Amino acid sequence: MRTLFIADLHLSEQHPEISNAFFSFLKNETADVDALYILGDLFEVWIGDDEHTPLMDKVAERLSDYARMSQAKIYYLHGNRDFMIGKRYAMQASMVLLQEHCGIDLYGENVLIMHGHTLCLADKNYQKMRTVIHNPCLQFIFNLMPLSVRKKIGWKIRSASKSKKVYKDKNTMAVTQSEVLRLLEKHQADTLIHGHTHQAAKHLFTLSGKPATRFDVGDWSANFSFIEAQKNKTELIIRPIDYYSV
Ligand code: MN
Repeated sequence: MRTLFIADLHLSEQHPEISNAFFSFLKNETADVDALYILGDLFEVWIGDDEHTPLMDKVAERLSDYARMSQAKIYYLHGNRDFMIGKRYAMQASMVLLQEHCGIDLYGENVLIMHGHTLCLADKNYQKMRTVIHNPCLQFIFNLMPLSVRKKIGWKIRSASKSKKVYKDKNTMAVTQSEVLRLLEKHQADTLIHGHTHQAAKHLFTLSGKPATRFDVGDWSANFSFIEAQKNKTELIIRPIDYYSV
């Protein structure tokens, strides 16, 4: 049996090739799967569970089909873009919502999973914005606004962060190693799996004298990547985006 981890698909109407690759992935990777973990930023932007674009509904439908066909559990934890995904959409998509930092039992090993934005402490702008956008009171007020207003705000924030991204150097997407060690220690894990940085990689280091591993899941663009965990074997798999159609 195996457990799969994906992140940072950034699905949007602008990139149907990514959505199609995701649907092919769901169609083809059903065998022997215990669980599929989506580690955030499944969508490029999220305004509210009540928006109902054709893409949102199609993704929910395909995920539900996947849960039914593979008998796998689907878990979701929020990214920094789609952190407003709520219970209603999770239910529609047959996903179980998880905490921001989550310790899981992966075939007998304690593994820590998260989106990864909370590891990038050098990204001062984001860390500042984060305290605002994750304020429950502000989220409550935002949800009371009409959908049309929320849409405008959502896309404004998105284009602002996009134009800023041009100036973002590698440092702002760099993972702060001391934070990795601190969180692994806190959750008593020696493996961390996360996304966010869009740099698929396996990093080896030591934690209190013992070997530890950090898997960076990577994003979906020209290639897609995922982590496949089996008992005593966890690996990063990178494939071209048209892998299932050729
Ligand atoms: Mn992200």
